[in-house]
Amino acid sequence: MHNSLMSRLDFLFNSTPEIRRAQWRGLNTSAVLIYFIIAVNTLTLDALYWSFAPLELLIVPTLIFVGLSTYRSFVWLRYRHVDLPDERISGVLRVVTLIAGFLGVGYSSWAIALIPYGTEAHQGHLIVFVTLTALAMSYLIVIVPTAAFVALASVMIPMIMFLALQPSVVSQALAGNLVVIGSMIVVAQILLFRQFYNAVVSRQEILDKHEELMRLSDENQRLANEDSLTGLPNRRRFFSYLQRSDIPPEGMMIGILDLDGFKQINDVYGHTIGDRLLVEVSRRMRENFSEALLIARLGGDEFGIICGGKRSSEEVLAGANKALASICGTIKLGDIDLRPSASVGFARLKPEHQSAVTALEHADIALYNAKQSARGDIVVYSADLETSTRERFVIEQKLREADLENELFVVLQPIIDTRTAQVASFEVLGRWKNPVLGMVPPNLFIVAAERASISARVTDVLFAKALRAMAELPETTRISFNLSAHDVTSADAALHLSRLAANAGIAAGRITFEITETSLMGDFDAGQAALNTLRREGFKISLDDFGTGFSSLSYVRHLPLDTIKIDRSFVTGIEHDDIKMRKIMKAVIDLCGELGVSCVVEGVETAEQLQAVTSLGAELIQGYYFAAPMPVHKLGTYLASLDEGYARATAASAS
Ligand code: C2E
Ligand code: CA
Ligand code: CA
Repeated sequence: MHNSLMSRLDFLFNSTPEIRRAQWRGLNTSAVLIYFIIAVNTLTLDALYWSFAPLELLIVPTLIFVGLSTYRSFVWLRYRHVDLPDERISGVLRVVTLIAGFLGVGYSSWAIALIPYGTEAHQGHLIVFVTLTALAMSYLIVIVPTAAFVALASVMIPMIMFLALQPSVVSQALAGNLVVIGSMIVVAQILLFRQFYNAVVSRQEILDKHEELMRLSDENQRLANEDSLTGLPNRRRFFSYLQRSDIPPEGMMIGILDLDGFKQINDVYGHTIGDRLLVEVSRRMRENFSEALLIARLGGDEFGIICGGKRSSEEVLAGANKALASICGTIKLGDIDLRPSASVGFARLKPEHQSAVTALEHADIALYNAKQSARGDIVVYSADLETSTRERFVIEQKLREADLENELFVVLQPIIDTRTAQVASFEVLGRWKNPVLGMVPPNLFIVAAERASISARVTDVLFAKALRAMAELPETTRISFNLSAHDVTSADAALHLSRLAANAGIAAGRITFEITETSLMGDFDAGQAALNTLRREGFKISLDDFGTGFSSLSYVRHLPLDTIKIDRSFVTGIEHDDIKMRKIMKAVIDLCGELGVSCVVEGVETAEQLQAVTSLGAELIQGYYFAAPMPVHKLGTYLASLDEGYARATAASAS
């Protein structure tokens, strides 16, 4: 019972900074009025007792009360519009309580001292006047309950005791009345203060809620614009930045950076390492690309870059190169050393562009080209680049829709053995004639097929046609068939080709597969396994375009080779006494001899070139000089004409 009452009165003792601030503000508005009333009441009592009481009993209290009231009024006026810190407010509240007690005790003592003087009417008035003043005062400071109670008690208790001790029954009854009134007043004040307290608390709750809401909305704003993994601005922020209207149209370089082979890193090391790599890459970019206004993660392993128009292209590219170099260094994650690389496309926003999105599309085209032909590097957009890219897109699109069986065909070009003047073999070259695009050169449609992921289909169709052509030719005729990267990705792929040949009834020994160094670059071990399988199945292997790669000798050492084809570029100009070229050509021909592999020289177009390369020891020659690639239906006639020539030559040499 007692406990529950105390806990219900908790609010009287549990002051909070907000309550104290509200008390301070409340007192600030009423303090001067209170002191004014005290001063006026003091002077009223003086006037009443002027002719009855001794002068010093009037003057001394008056000086004290009026002086104190005036002084405190000035103090309150001075702090009227000041926001005090919490500790100072607590101090002020203590002083207020002290002054309330001092004034209460002083006033009641003064009243009791005055009672013996004056008439009975004076006495009655004095008691009513002093107790009413105390009641009014304590009401005016009800928001500071301790001060209000002290003011009330310090006046009422002495007055009640004084009256109770009087012999007159009226006085004693009055004492009783005052006890009842005083108690009621205390209860009423507690209720009033509770209202004040609750109002302050709920106002504070509303303010707190509002603040919390504001904080949440700021947080949401931040989350909506930030990539949670890397802390970089996200795609949304990137696009809203691009669409800002205050961007000078002549300005801005926009870049897109994309990590090379990120998918493999994820597959091999797991997503945690992938994530950590993205975080590190983001950090390095932010640190090293100070020319960028904004670097955002657009998603996955793709980053968007915006550089301001005040920067020249050179400055931006220098910054991009620096950032790229920092990414491409070794990145250590635990005990894993990664050496990531990235490709970048850049484009400048021009005044004629409708919006920044155009520049972004251009950057995308540049990035696409970097990925295709300049991995790990930066490509800057140009109109020519766009045209060639468009062409490639169209080729890819048409190839996807093409009726491969009808549109693809093969032509064959003989490789001549100069010792016998006979065909050593025919190289099979793929051709594509599209109803809309017409003839598309093989170096274009072969890469397009790879991009469109239909290389396997293309190879199958071409190989089947080559096998069908062979069926028409004498058993002794051999062919060379070009393979691209995807054809040599596994032993299974090799076995597939072997089955096709077997099904067509063509002996493996009649077929040579030509591969290039670049087609083995992706996964050398898998490529090597595929070639070993082909070799075991009885096929021969030829290394094509020798001399254009970069690590030729190591390939020669590690691959099961039967033939090396010296690239056409070594033949161009060889007839003009190009000593260096001749020496290289001679060295390669000799090397082949030493290794016991045969050597084909490609691209011989003139009698002079033929003379030059045969003088260096070349025996197997391919080139327009002997014959251009020819359609399958011309092969019979061609071979017959060769036989005729051969017969004539042998007849001539016999006679
Ligand atoms: P490659 O394997 O080096 O083929 C030889 C290329 O040189 C052929 O071009 C051929 O027509 C050309 N050529 C032959 N003799 C001469 C000459 O005396 N002078 C000049 N200037 N050129 C000569 P083509 O048919 O345009 O093929 C280009 C490339 O496309 C081929 O180079 C090969 O890498 C690729 N390719 C062609 N057909 C196929 C195929 O069926 N499959 C694959 N994977 N690639 C193919
Ligand atoms: Ca070839
Ligand atoms: Ca070649």
